[in-house]
Amino acid sequence: MNVMPKLSERVGTFTDSVIRRMTRISDEYGAINLSQGFPDFDPPHEMLDALAKVAYEGPHQYPITFGAENFRQALARKQGKAIGRAIDPETEIVVTCGGTEAMMCVMMTICNPGDKVMVFSPFYENYGADAILSGAAPIYIPLVPPEYTFDLGLIEKGFQEGAKAIIICNPSNPCGKVFSREELMQIGELALRYDAFVVTDEVYEHMVYAPYRHTCMASLPGMYDHTITCNSLSKTYSITGWRLGYLIGPEEVIEAAKKVHDFLTVGAAAPLQEAAVTGLNFPDSYYENLLKIYTEKRDYFLKGLDEIGLKHNVPQGTYFVLIDIQEFLDLPQFSGWTDMEFCEWMIRNIGVAAVPGSSFFKEEVNHLIRLHFARKKETIDEALRRLAKMKELAV
Ligand code: GLN
Repeated sequence: MNVMPKLSERVGTFTDSVIRRMTRISDEYGAINLSQGFPDFDPPHEMLDALAKVAYEGPHQYPITFGAENFRQALARKQGKAIGRAIDPETEIVVTCGGTEAMMCVMMTICNPGDKVMVFSPFYENYGADAILSGAAPIYIPLVPPEYTFDLGLIEKGFQEGAKAIIICNPSNPCGKVFSREELMQIGELALRYDAFVVTDEVYEHMVYAPYRHTCMASLPGMYDHTITCNSLSKTYSITGWRLGYLIGPEEVIEAAKKVHDFLTVGAAAPLQEAAVTGLNFPDSYYENLLKIYTEKRDYFLKGLDEIGLKHNVPQGTYFVLIDIQEFLDLPQFSGWTDMEFCEWMIRNIGVAAVPGSSFFKEEVNHLIRLHFARKKETIDEALRRLAKMKELAV
């Protein structure tokens, strides 16, 4: 009898993505999907027109592996403004298949098996799997609610223990924290002192709500050469399915990252890069308007949650909200339930999909679920109606 050869030990050490799993279950039951963060409205029509044109005019063959030239030039212009320095599109950018590949590519580029990397908790769940796939050992630094503050002493200790890098998601998925300039300067100073890297994931850079402001780590004095920025076009242009991401960093790192990226994926889709150049060239008013739209959505959704009486945090950035479900878990019918069980129950019985908070925390956390509000007003209204029914159970 044939016996299936064993798989790598690596794949046994992490589960499939809880975020993506919730989308699958949500689709199966036809629920309103507020779990995986992506918009239910169209990308800018100028980009769709560009895409239609590309269909006939191309390009349809491999792009340059580290990104089409005009795409990198447009990126260098846009992000150069944000970072406050000229970015060389030839040597300081790699275009990747989404922010997901960007982060994986950095980890494979900077980590040897056994290297330590600091990760805040809560964290975007991919970082856990990225660490395992690259062989890095995470050191978790708690972000302490309600303000999601951190102990700088623990970060210094992590560097003293040899951490090679710290990963910062800013603004932070799932807790919506926006790191202040001051906080970033303090972390940056330590990274410089201990000759370490800062890896920043800034995919929500345009969703930072007043009075908070986004600061690029790479823009801080002395930090450019120690910072590798992961970013993506997914959220900014509502094109999560186009899978366009990128890395910006110092030449030496990017040169190595280009090789990793090339052998992992060869390149991001050429026609989509071409069409997306239109978006990268939008004037500043596009980003101002995007922020206005998301600020309204945030305020509207939070007001709805308040009216229902669901307890939640107030995100400073991103389109995620953490809801406290303890009042439900205290009811006899949910006694002893995990947050995952509760989320599955919600999909089936309430018709709203959320992500169980435990998938973001190193600590034992069972009382939070994550919802997002990248949805049309009608969708948000219907989701709120359904959530109000859920709340009736707990009054
Ligand atoms: N960042 C999004 C989220 O947290 C999802 C990204 C993804 O699924 N690749 O929901």
